[in-house]
Amino acid sequence: MSEEIHIVGGGITGLFLAYHHAKRGDSVTLYEHAEKLGGVIGTKDTNEGLVEQAANGVLLTDEIKSMLEDIGLTPLFPNKAAKRRYFWANGKTSLLPISILTGVKLLFTILFKKIKFNESQNLEIWANQMFGTSVTKNIIEPAIGGVYGTRLEALQAESIFSKWDGSGTKTILEEMKKSGKKSYGTVSFPGGMGDLVSHLVTYLESKIQIKTNFRFESLDEILKLKGKIRFCISLKNLIPLLGNKIQTYEVPNLLSITTITRFGKDHLTKKPCFGILFTKNEGIRALGVLLNSDIFPGRVKEDLHSETWIYPESAKENNGETWESILEKDRKLVSKKSDLPETIYVTSWSGVFPAYDRKLFVFNQKLDVLESEWISRGIDIRFYGNYRKGIGLRSLFESTSRK
Ligand SMILES: Cc1cc2nc3c(=O)[nH]c(=O)nc-3n(C[C@H](O)[C@H](O)[C@H](O)COP(=O)(O)OP(=O)(O)OC[C@H]3O[C@@H](n4cnc5c(N)ncnc54)[C@H](O)[C@@H]3O)c2cc1C
Repeated sequence: MSEEIHIVGGGITGLFLAYHHAKRGDSVTLYEHAEKLGGVIGTKDTNEGLVEQAANGVLLTDEIKSMLEDIGLTPLFPNKAAKRRYFWANGKTSLLPISILTGVKLLFTILFKKIKFNESQNLEIWANQMFGTSVTKNIIEPAIGGVYGTRLEALQAESIFSKWDGSGTKTILEEMKKSGKKSYGTVSFPGGMGDLVSHLVTYLESKIQIKTNFRFESLDEILKLKGKIRFCISLKNLIPLLGNKIQTYEVPNLLSITTITRFGKDHLTKKPCFGILFTKNEGIRALGVLLNSDIFPGRVKEDLHSETWIYPESAKENNGETWESILEKDRKLVSKKSDLPETIYVTSWSGVFPAYDRKLFVFNQKLDVLESEWISRGIDIRFYGNYRKGIGLRSLFESTSRK
């Protein structure tokens, strides 16, 4: 039976949810308070090449493939050279920043060690106990930090791996197998990630009602809507809307992030690659760098190279520093040369990421309780977004697909 669905927020989460409901033949209204849809995702076509505003790619699965077919969008697969992914350890780039013996121990941990979460430990302490200090510093710190926009001490295992059973009975391998979904790696689109938004919008336009420049004044106004209510707004915007439903001490921590896309004539690394992940306390303030023009074809005009550097809020040590000077210092350490950029584009997002820590875990439990309380009063409300079940687009696509 067709259902009446109200989706508040037209970022990628809202668009994915609208797509799933449109496929089921539901009657959907999407409310977006900005003029444009897509939220943080978008691509600028500059004189030098494409500049992504947020996500650079999406992990391709069979379900995402079939959505792309529906919306008439062809994925752009990475170049072969992008298979090479570097870590930064002991002042140099390295494909495997741990010894063979540590690698064997890591394999043993994944296969046999039982996962046990501890709510009082931050992710760094937990990972040190689980995997040892070398794996934590050289692999987990750069890999998780690069995705979650911060360092391990600001995160917590139970929140990051919320889909895993951490009661001490399951191994990592068992939990990884549970999801069972095959991934075909990261893809983008010929005109960048903006293509995903524009194709989804074109697909949805004839199937649902879209109201842009639309703002609800209060939660009460939203609760009066007839039908199912689906919140797809960022955590930063959700908190004020929930008002006194959330106490001040329950408000989760938010992280700010800056990305700098740099176009220049000189290549950063000796060989083309996907990028480099940086560990902490090794002199580099960036969390990671993506070598856009090595990864995907068509990212640059003329004979330039394009890199996107990702920085946490803490990277700027004083207000006198510019992002350009921070980037060039980092870059000199990696390339061992002082090249001048052709141009740079800086995008700063304030409070864009939830910190995946204990506070967020408890906050999500509170949202589950609120959802149940409203259901018991006959109001069907659900919360979706990158603070619920994972930060990346694949997680958002999968969480919005569930009935
Ligand atoms: C720099 C950066 C790089 C990233 N890289 C990747 C990557 O490579 N791969 C990946 O998978 N993920 C990546 N991510 C994560 C991913 O992009 C985000 O998790 C995702 O885009 C969040 O989408 P959203 O729709 O939940 O939120 P948003 O994009 O914040 O959208 C929320 C929407 O709700 C609207 N809104 C807010 N309040 C209201 C209201 N009261 N009424 C109506 N509308 C409202 C907003 O205007 C906005 O359009 C990255 C994120 C960032 C910031």
